[in-house]
Amino acid sequence: MTKPIFRFAPSPNGRLHLGHAYSALLNADLARRFDGRLLLRIEDIDTTRCRPEFEEAIHEDLAWLGLQWEEPVRRQSEHFDDYRAAFRTLKGRGVVYACFCSRKDIAEAVACREAEAKTGAAQPWPRDPDGAPLYPGTCRTLSAGEIERRIAHGEPHAWRLDMQALQRLLPGSHGYRRFDYDGHEEDVVANPWRWGDAVIVRKDTPTSYHLSVVVDDALQGVTHVVRGQDLEPATDLHVLLQALLGLPVPLYHHHRLVLDPEGDKLAKSRQSPSLAELRTSGVTPQDIRQRLGF
Ligand code: GLU
Repeated sequence: MTKPIFRFAPSPNGRLHLGHAYSALLNADLARRFDGRLLLRIEDIDTTRCRPEFEEAIHEDLAWLGLQWEEPVRRQSEHFDDYRAAFRTLKGRGVVYACFCSRKDIAEAVACREAEAKTGAAQPWPRDPDGAPLYPGTCRTLSAGEIERRIAHGEPHAWRLDMQALQRLLPGSHGYRRFDYDGHEEDVVANPWRWGDAVIVRKDTPTSYHLSVVVDDALQGVTHVVRGQDLEPATDLHVLLQALLGLPVPLYHHHRLVLDPEGDKLAKSRQSPSLAELRTSGVTPQDIRQRLGF
């Protein structure tokens, strides 16, 4: 029988903190428990925010924690062609459209409804699970000629999923199976529509987190995705992409988040101490495991 495959997939846009350590250690623990393999994947599609020194530090921090992973490590920035190919499939299925809007354009388009909502005269404009206003569909109805002309003029554009077209193409319910530490599995109903016309290819890079993560999980044969609860809503979108691209749906486990004493998610922007800082202050890998409940 083939072994289960787990992966830890950090982005090298800052130093790892305890939240990353928890995710990495849990992946490693589950891989061991399920007699599986552990992969490391570097999610560096954002070539402006990701830096080689952070990538180097990921290897250093994980090795310090005592983790081992298989080589070669997949670096997303070396595989843009794979994501372009997946995008062509989506385009061929007629479920994406080019979008020239800036964040400001979107804010302006929904401003009127938002203002009415403040006075109680209207429902607030719907937001996606990340809190961003759902895309109002401004570019959905642009003519093919106009799109071609604007692209030919080099106008920056993203590509969005056309959820109306998708609801017609893939009607009915979507879902996946979640698994827990004891190997129990259960069905989860996914609601991808709550994301609205999500960006699937960004303006600044030829892919998006959502597209590259489903392509890579499939290409790497990942069977068990273990990641934080903050990414649970994204899984709803991922199963839709898997259905569209004909990719297998792995099992998912969304783990608890490590919070700071104020109850907030750890983040560089909140000055959460990095693993490197903890290490310098004398904290050992054993202390970290203990602190995280392993
Ligand atoms: N690269 C993502 C992050 O650092 C994780 C993606 C995933 O595990 O699916 O938050």
